[in-house]
Amino acid sequence: MKRFITIFLGVALAASLIIACATPGAQRQTGVFRGSAVGYVGTMIVEVEVNRGNIRRIDVVQHNETPILSDVAFQRVISAVVNEGNLNVDNVTGATFTTMALRTAITEALTSAGIDTGAMMRPRQRPVGGQTIYKQADVIVIGGGGAGLAAAVSAAQNGSSVIVLEKLAFLGGCTLISGSGFNAVNPRIQMAENPPIYDSIDLHFQQTWDAGDRRADPAIVRVMVENALDAIYWLTDLGLEWDQRVKMIPGGLHRRANTPTLPLGIGFIEVYQRFIDRVGSNVEVLLETRATELITEGGRVVGVKATNADNNTVVVRANNGVVMATGGYSANVEMRMYFDRQWGGILDRRVLNTNLPGSMGDGIVMGQAIGANLVGMEYTQLVPFGHPGTGAPSGLIGGSVEDTLYINLEGRRFINENSRRDDLTLAAFDQTDTVLIVVMDSRTLPTGYEYNIFNETHNFMVEYGHAFRADTLEELAVLIGVPVNAFLQTIMDFNAAVDAGRCEFGRTDFRGRIETPPFLAGPRVPTVHHTMGGLQIDTYARVIHKNGNVIPGFYAAGEVAGGVHGTNRVGGNALTDITVFGRIAGESAALRR
Ligand code: ADP
Repeated sequence: MKRFITIFLGVALAASLIIACATPGAQRQTGVFRGSAVGYVGTMIVEVEVNRGNIRRIDVVQHNETPILSDVAFQRVISAVVNEGNLNVDNVTGATFTTMALRTAITEALTSAGIDTGAMMRPRQRPVGGQTIYKQADVIVIGGGGAGLAAAVSAAQNGSSVIVLEKLAFLGGCTLISGSGFNAVNPRIQMAENPPIYDSIDLHFQQTWDAGDRRADPAIVRVMVENALDAIYWLTDLGLEWDQRVKMIPGGLHRRANTPTLPLGIGFIEVYQRFIDRVGSNVEVLLETRATELITEGGRVVGVKATNADNNTVVVRANNGVVMATGGYSANVEMRMYFDRQWGGILDRRVLNTNLPGSMGDGIVMGQAIGANLVGMEYTQLVPFGHPGTGAPSGLIGGSVEDTLYINLEGRRFINENSRRDDLTLAAFDQTDTVLIVVMDSRTLPTGYEYNIFNETHNFMVEYGHAFRADTLEELAVLIGVPVNAFLQTIMDFNAAVDAGRCEFGRTDFRGRIETPPFLAGPRVPTVHHTMGGLQIDTYARVIHKNGNVIPGFYAAGEVAGGVHGTNRVGGNALTDITVFGRIAGESAALRR
């Protein structure tokens, strides 16, 4: 998706002077100069308009970065360069690659305009801080990801004023970069599939509970599956548009993933943002404001202490309640090593993660400090679908299980692709170099230009080396370095099994034979994806104290809450969880339940 972002900031006289001063001796060129760099996803191209050495305008004319988080990076860098003549801009946390790429592309363009970019790297003044800012609202939400925003909207719909504290410079959290599959029994679209997909809330419950080895709280699982479809209607009422095909997210065990028409989690965050932006929404968002401490009075949570980007202290008083929605701790290596009992001590820095740097477990630390009970901390979800270099989900060719098969470097299948995520990961760890290669044909994404749920096209993935593509299976085997004969035999066996309706390892869900060229394959490795444990909640999303009582005024939702999934989460259940319990937490806080 080429996005043409133009941030025309105008040029103040002062800015012109700064540039002119900053470039002594430079040839004062005039014209439009281009620069490019590789961003997080593909090539970014910028155009810089220069008039006798003065920077007039910067446009990002081509990029494929993640919307929302890249918008912040673009705005900051372009504003600093155009208005201040300063190329020394801090990386936006969570958008590091994007910020660096933009600076590189702009530097290239400026250099070809004869501008001395070295002189534009001027030190920045750091905020002194030291002040205390006081604020107050009915409900305070900590964390502006999927759960937090659902809670904020729901609290506002229940008549509360709301303040959301988000430590990063953008809303969305890991929800923004997720694959966006939302499990809900939705007969209208499931029965429209050919063949129809039979499903039930009881089956959703049973699969969720069993896949977590019955370590979740069954009452919580019940609430999640029973409210899933209603949460979809709620999101639809907020303006979310849905794809009409049902998918099975890897580890999803059944085709019940509803996905928005927009890729990633963009659709969810956009509808929440639109609600917040409406006049009278009564929701205020404080970005780059990191909550550090819960304030209690007589055992009741009555507020939050935070630090903002200017190093000021922010004290926010909650009339009704505080919702903790800070996500998981997969980016906190020490914490996952400390708690995990599932993976035998291997979750050190060598195992990457799919998430944003905000996933540090802050909410667990804050909750623990006031006596909240933690559950399920010993379980950590890994998926064998990480990018080998970054651990990120980007570059994954097949987001829907029924289109794909998985092989090892020996060219053979080794597991039912429709297995639990922990089983898939354990099996991947047993393969050579822990590599699992996803293989698919072009039946569902025929042109190479279609965007998948991670906002990428096959053309892009092939161009940047995340995946390989060939017109014949023999060529593909050579490209991915697996023995040709073994690979051909694997595909032959798989296709014969598709015809028979059941194949080795017991798989029964297929879109069809692997026979439509070109063929694609992409190697993936295990990566930490979801931390299963967290604050114990009840069915009203109230946080439970170690003494077994509810902590008054304190609610939690999303990945920060434990006991929702047990040992292993079903793929596609996270969005269900965060939306259902985000809504409940917002309502409970608003109503002081
Ligand atoms: P969930 O899916 O549970 O909503 P996300 O990762 O989508 O989890 O969202 C969690 C959000 O919480 C992220 O945007 C993250 O930056 C934010 N966050 C984490 N810790 C803090 C904190 N201490 N203060 C404010 N926001 C936080």
